[in-house]
Amino acid sequence: MTKVALARCGSYARNEVESAVRKCLNELGGLGRFVQPGQKVLVKPNLLAAEPPERGVDTHPEVVRAVLKELLAIGAKPLVGDSPGLGSLVRVAQKAGVTQVCRELGVPLGVFTKEIEVKAPHGKILKSFPLVEEIAQVDAVINLPRVKTHGLTRLTGAVKNLFGCVAGLRKGEMHFRLQHADVFHEMLIDLALTIKPVLNIVDGVMAMEGAGPRNGRLRFMGLIIAGADPFAVDATIARLVGLAPAAVPLLALAGERGLPGLKEVEVEVRGEALDAFVLSDFQVPPAATHIGLRVPAVVNAFFRRYVSPYPVIKNNCQRCGVCLQACPAQLITMERGKVVIDDRRCIRCYCCQEFCPHDAIALKTPFFGRFL
Ligand code: SF4
Ligand code: SF4
Repeated sequence: MTKVALARCGSYARNEVESAVRKCLNELGGLGRFVQPGQKVLVKPNLLAAEPPERGVDTHPEVVRAVLKELLAIGAKPLVGDSPGLGSLVRVAQKAGVTQVCRELGVPLGVFTKEIEVKAPHGKILKSFPLVEEIAQVDAVINLPRVKTHGLTRLTGAVKNLFGCVAGLRKGEMHFRLQHADVFHEMLIDLALTIKPVLNIVDGVMAMEGAGPRNGRLRFMGLIIAGADPFAVDATIARLVGLAPAAVPLLALAGERGLPGLKEVEVEVRGEALDAFVLSDFQVPPAATHIGLRVPAVVNAFFRRYVSPYPVIKNNCQRCGVCLQACPAQLITMERGKVVIDDRRCIRCYCCQEFCPHDAIALKTPFFGRFL
């Protein structure tokens, strides 16, 4: 059985977060089980966009601080880093409060510029990944996601957060290459099995529901969640938001591969009782087309166009142009001062909605999608 620890955390007050992170680590047998003194450790928060901590978009800086302090206390050598798909890490980390934490603790902030091709030993979709070079230079990775919803993956937690280790613009390329939603999800599974983080410590104090991962509503969950297996951690997050793990496409596919940690009987939840924290009315986006890999391309194209939610520009669009840069298919244009999406070519990756800084892109489900 794999262990997932839950520790109550009522706010982002420093002492509360530090105490909750320590409780989780103790429940898992102590940090020394995962990291040795002197080891170089890449700490990978979710640094999606340049937003202040109270917006709940990025991993909260107090969670990053608490984990770094634990690592420094055992004599490890942490490095904090991420590779945002759009914009510079320097700006994102500054606004998210992570730069200040690193400065105060004397921990370097890695501005990833070089990439390296890393073999994927269990790759079903990809045999290697273009990852940030630092992945090959550290002894261990500690993953610090946040509980949020996502248009494509429904939930983003431990597994999806590792997509940030794919070098900068290569993320957009992957969305374009792997257009079938299930192929993309399988790739995320390959990636988690390649990076193999030693620990996943999740910021579940304030979760994001609805139009996540950037423009959703914050909901109090009051937890730090931790475990060594990213799939078991994500299955636990799914249960906490009232979903069966099989309702999250990448977890369903991980189950089909026979990966452990997805069934309730395979996970030993330690610390707090899971049932006391379940948000049964948590709003999660509908699944994009999850119709298996073996259907003919024409069926997949039909499902994508007429069943999967499609992006729509709302009236509050500020014409900032961010979505034009974010779209991997390069099909969003500005015409006579209006943003226009060429829906026939849209691959339903939802990068535009993910990166829109003004919550001006909604996802609408077509009639067939609602019917199904
Ligand atoms: S990113 Fe959002 S606000 Fe900016 S142009 Fe696109 S839809 Fe409008
Ligand atoms: S319009 Fe949006 S959902 Fe469609 S391909 Fe571009 S970024 Fe992806």
